[in-house]
Amino acid sequence: MKSGIHPKYNEISVTCSCGSVFTTRSVVKTDLDIEICSACHPFYTGQQKIIDTAGRVDKFRRKYGDRQSGTSA
Ligand SMILES: [Zn+2]
Repeated sequence: MKSGIHPKYNEISVTCSCGSVFTTRSVVKTDLDIEICSACHPFYTGQQKIIDTAGRVDKFRRKYGDRQSGTSA
């Protein structure tokens, strides 16, 4: 067994935008800020969730959303 060939893993704390904080092991030494984690990811929650940071989705819907239910066909 050679020693010193593996990177040193540090225990860091990861803070998600949903408020969830957990610790993980990483080669980076600094704490992380993430936007999505296993607690709020749609894959895990089973819920469709759109992360709309700047109201872009709302703007898009206002502009194009009415076409679906438009009176003219
Ligand atoms: Zn999260």
